[in-house]
Amino acid sequence: MANSYWVEPDIKFVKQLMGLGGETLKKCFQCATCSVVCPISPDEKPFPRKEMIAAQWGLKDKLVGNMDVWLCHQCNDCSSYCPRGARPGDVLNAVRSYSIQQYAWPSWLARIVPDARLWWLLLAIPVAIFLVLLGGTGYLKIPAGEIEFAKFFPTLLVDIIFVPLATVWLPLVFGIGIYRFMNDIHKNALAEGKAKRKDLNIPDFLKSVVCILPTILRHSKFSQCSTNKDRYLAHILVLFSFIGLFVVTNFFFVALYILHEPGPYSLANPVKILANVSAIALFIGVLLMISNRLKDKGSNVGKGSYFDWSLIVLVLGLVVTGGLSELTRLAHLPAVAYPMYFTHLVFVFCLFAYLPYSKLAHLVYRTLAMAYSRYAEREPCE
Ligand code: SF4
Ligand code: SF4
Repeated sequence: MANSYWVEPDIKFVKQLMGLGGETLKKCFQCATCSVVCPISPDEKPFPRKEMIAAQWGLKDKLVGNMDVWLCHQCNDCSSYCPRGARPGDVLNAVRSYSIQQYAWPSWLARIVPDARLWWLLLAIPVAIFLVLLGGTGYLKIPAGEIEFAKFFPTLLVDIIFVPLATVWLPLVFGIGIYRFMNDIHKNALAEGKAKRKDLNIPDFLKSVVCILPTILRHSKFSQCSTNKDRYLAHILVLFSFIGLFVVTNFFFVALYILHEPGPYSLANPVKILANVSAIALFIGVLLMISNRLKDKGSNVGKGSYFDWSLIVLVLGLVVTGGLSELTRLAHLPAVAYPMYFTHLVFVFCLFAYLPYSKLAHLVYRTLAMAYSRYAEREPCE
């Protein structure tokens, strides 16, 4: 006799997926066109049709911890061909958004960040911290003379806030999320017969991470897309601009604390050039992302939910306030430059502090899932 499977539909889970951009999931009638046209899906146990069944039935344990959900790059070729307008690409995106909240710690913060009604609270937290620190140290005023941001927001205060965020908060929260995620995808892959290896050997897994890095850096999965082909350029610009800004931040940190060169640096300084080129690339990349989401691909395909848009708006705010801080400083407009710099730091704080709860966390989880797929021999190393 065939093995029986006890189905317990989780209606709340279905509604949550619908609220995260998967509102069309019930339209699916299981024709499997999506799995056939997906350019990324492996031949064996292909996605996203099986995930659509699980989403309709509210089978949370078949979706959260399912590596295939993360192998999907939301190219939406499947959604374009779907004869029912069920938008499987957007449903998988909703599952990823839900999973990010499930893996994040602490759970109360993971509930606040994606809540559209509480965006003001997320901004109010850094504003309150900054005002208390600046007020308590006597810096809460527009300084006279040549504009120097360090005279308004001392570098030491910036570092007191951001260094623990980057070196303690992010590794701690992501560490917990990664631990939960890896256990889940390994358990799920074994249960679904998608993993050839039964063990989870860390050194071998790390080799798989190295193996997929060129694929990620080249964004070669995106280039297989048709419907969302223009997402390739947008994503590559954003990825490399973040890498550039990361290099710049570390350079300035070393220059300040090791070489004792506090700046300011001239616009012709190579590191400053890298900073400005990265910021422009980030600005163009975000604009392309917005135009791609607003483009009519039929049946609202790829329009995204609050969870998707909140990150886009945050990064846009970050790059616009950063650029305006620099321009108003060069234009000698202290009354605008200092508040703009303050606002820029609020956006930077939001990006760092809420990163593990935001859509940007897919950088980490998709990388791990792609590496696990190689480790489990579901896909070969390119
Ligand atoms: S999502 Fe669309 S293409 Fe895929 S199985 Fe359902 S109806 Fe068919
Ligand atoms: S969105 Fe693209 S990668 Fe994801 S399942 Fe559909 S076709 Fe495949």
